[in-house]
Amino acid sequence: MTFSILAGAAHGGGQPAWAMLAYLVAGVFFILALRGLSSPATSRSGNRNGMIGMALAVGTTLVTHDIANIVEILIAVGIGGAIGVVVARRIAMTAMPELVAGFHSLVGLAAVVVGFGAWLDPQSFGIVDAAGQILPVSRIELGLGIAIGAITFSGSVIAFLKLSGRMSGSPIMLPGRHVINLGTLAAIIILIGLYTISPAGAAGEGWMVIAVALLAFIIGFLLIIPIGGADMPVVVSMLNSYSGWAAAAMGFTLGNTAMIITGALVGSSGAILSYIMCRAMNRSFISVIAGGFGAAPEAGPGGAREQRPYKQGSAEDAAYMLEQAEKVIIIPGYGMAVAQAQHALREMGDKLKEKGVEVKYAIHPVAGRMPGHMNVLLAEASVPYDEVFELEDINSEFAQADVAFIIGANDVVNPAAKTDKSSPIYGMPVFDVDKAKQVFFIKRSMGGVGYAGVDNDVFYMNQTVMLLADAKKMVEEIVKSLD
Ligand code: NDP
Repeated sequence: MTFSILAGAAHGGGQPAWAMLAYLVAGVFFILALRGLSSPATSRSGNRNGMIGMALAVGTTLVTHDIANIVEILIAVGIGGAIGVVVARRIAMTAMPELVAGFHSLVGLAAVVVGFGAWLDPQSFGIVDAAGQILPVSRIELGLGIAIGAITFSGSVIAFLKLSGRMSGSPIMLPGRHVINLGTLAAIIILIGLYTISPAGAAGEGWMVIAVALLAFIIGFLLIIPIGGADMPVVVSMLNSYSGWAAAAMGFTLGNTAMIITGALVGSSGAILSYIMCRAMNRSFISVIAGGFGAAPEAGPGGAREQRPYKQGSAEDAAYMLEQAEKVIIIPGYGMAVAQAQHALREMGDKLKEKGVEVKYAIHPVAGRMPGHMNVLLAEASVPYDEVFELEDINSEFAQADVAFIIGANDVVNPAAKTDKSSPIYGMPVFDVDKAKQVFFIKRSMGGVGYAGVDNDVFYMNQTVMLLADAKKMVEEIVKSLD
């Protein structure tokens, strides 16, 4: 396919005023989409606004540009769309985080490919001066686009491997990594600078662009491998942000206003989310992106752990205590997603409410494997939004709770975060479940650990009863016992 589809778009490319207006309107829809997505109650309308905005932006681009071959484009859309449908239908909810990381890597790769396309055929992109040489400002855009895209690509591939368990989730620390990272970043910036000021057609000009891409691939890899354990949520949101900036950089190269607006919105909202996740983990943003904040886990899955006494109970025990309670706080975590126990859990909540028990759900910002994971699952099961509370709003209520009901959560209730300075989760605020009169803890076996791979003192507390089973099965049995 020729690049002429992009040519008309490049740098405004004489776009009619109505097209600019349409892009602006699309931008407004994207802002409304983000606003809607900020709360589960409005997320559906948020999604709708996002789709309208995207349809408007894509439609305007297709109508206003010098499209070489619409058939080729439709074939590409068909192939991509078909792959998307198959992936969306097949993907398990628990594999969403790695799917998102995988998609981010494609955005990064697209930015690199567009950058190289513009470099190889600048005429088609309309980024040349009268003498046919690439404009200095376009050289900066092109260099930045390739660099951000390549960082996003390799960083997302590592995140995909870590999140899908194909690579160890533990931080991998290279000696002198800060010096290596800073040196590589400085080299990328210097190379982009040299490429911008080098006379057109100067020897080595091509190598500069290729070196920027190679170094950026390497830095993406280096930036993500030392991040691990409980700091992974920040990586997910950070790569989300990078993919937005990569798209915005592509928008500059293509001269497409809608893409610049969308990319900047994704980039900045991802950056804000990263900041929120850092605050939730009590980490400084710099320490996370510099990598390797947490220590190595003391005992990963299958690692040797000290045997300590604990109490084990049954669904009947739990049902009995739950219906006697006045106030129950439910803490869902990743295991609820694995078991798909949210519907049974809502049923249990409904039954308890019928019996006059006050039921609240406590959501930790990093519970599950992606930001908002628990909110999505509870919303899917129609848990009323006014029963769902964030960490800072509910943590003080555990002292008045009769039962803390932990279902598939682990790291987010681990007191090691408060007491053990050597723990990889040290410093992360956790739920004060130890303050509740009674704790029920659902997990499948005493051998399993949470994502950060550390033992949890809550298992062995006096008031804790372990309910060792698949979360869905256990909750279904509790529901039966409540009848
Ligand atoms: P954890 O990963 O700490 O613990 C999950 C628990 O669920 C384990 O105790 C496991 O034990 C149990 N479990 C798994 N499957 C089942 C099942 N079918 N039935 C019952 N129990 C089950 O989860 P949390 O939500 O508490 O913490 C999230 C962790 O993930 C944090 O460390 C966070 O930093 C990290 N993370 C979060 C991301 C995000 O964006 N939210 C992204 C990446 C990482 P067992 O195996 O014995 O059943």
